Amino acid sequence: MTSVRFEDPELAARWCAKARAAGSLAFVPTMGALHAGHLSLVHAAAAENDQLCVSVFVNPLQFDDPRDLERYPRDFDADAALLAEHGCAMVFTGTLERFFPETEGANTIVLRDPGPGARGLEGDHRPGHLAGVATIVARLFELVQPTRAYFGEKDFQQTLVVRHVAARLGYPEVRVCPTSREPEGLARSSRNALLSEAGRGRAARLSRALFEARVAWQSGVREPGELEAVLLAALLAPGVDVEYAAVRDPERWTAALPAGPLERARALVAARVDGVRLIDNLLLSDP
Ligand code: AMP
Repeated sequence: MTSVRFEDPELAARWCAKARAAGSLAFVPTMGALHAGHLSLVHAAAAENDQLCVSVFVNPLQFDDPRDLERYPRDFDADAALLAEHGCAMVFTGTLERFFPETEGANTIVLRDPGPGARGLEGDHRPGHLAGVATIVARLFELVQPTRAYFGEKDFQQTLVVRHVAARLGYPEVRVCPTSREPEGLARSSRNALLSEAGRGRAARLSRALFEARVAWQSGVREPGELEAVLLAALLAPGVDVEYAAVRDPERWTAALPAGPLERARALVAARVDGVRLIDNLLLSDP
């Protein structure tokens, strides 16, 4: 199977308008370097809709670190070929200039308010990142006007921001798909390709810490501070530079540690391994 491919978002928008007229249109926004985690979103989207399109765009607005942006893996041809094999009818990319033709250069793009889900954790450690996400996601939604859009639970605060953007626009229906993991537990990420073999071993601590916190929850621990201590004890090791190890009530997002005892909890971690920034999270309570 081949899929249609556009490097001009305007042409992609025209294709989407036709697809929408014929039935439901699913959309999966990505930054490419596609892996099985992305494909799990693609499969869910293809199964639930008449047509599916995917964007592949490494969005400079959401990078707070220029080095991270520069070394982010990119292979549009390989991504487009893979997507065609997995039920994607159209794939598109673009540039900041093409996505925001009304502006005069990246510095003049007006950033969107990412909403309350951007407070704390990622919001503190990557200033501007979630506003950059909100801005590109809103523009992509306006271009595609999808029936449903698919995101990964792996980027939990991003899902809060995307839901905020969709609520403001009045569309699309947002679907959040479970985190796809390597057999040893490591959350799949395009950035994993940048890890050394030893680094990959150390990176497995992130998911291990989350699952240990879940065991603590299941054994009755409800105080957020105690759950955070479990996370930290499992994470801390030479070569794992922890940025945060936190617990939040996922339905009442707060920038700071919520008061316990908790009725619901999600654990969230961020750490650098081999200089690569990794994030992961896990719902501790029952869904
Ligand atoms: P990215 O290319 O990293 O911007 O990711 C594109 C989409 O795929 C986002 O909605 C991510 O949350 C999602 N995603 C990335 N990694 C995973 C994973 N391991 N499991 C599920 N979804 C993922």
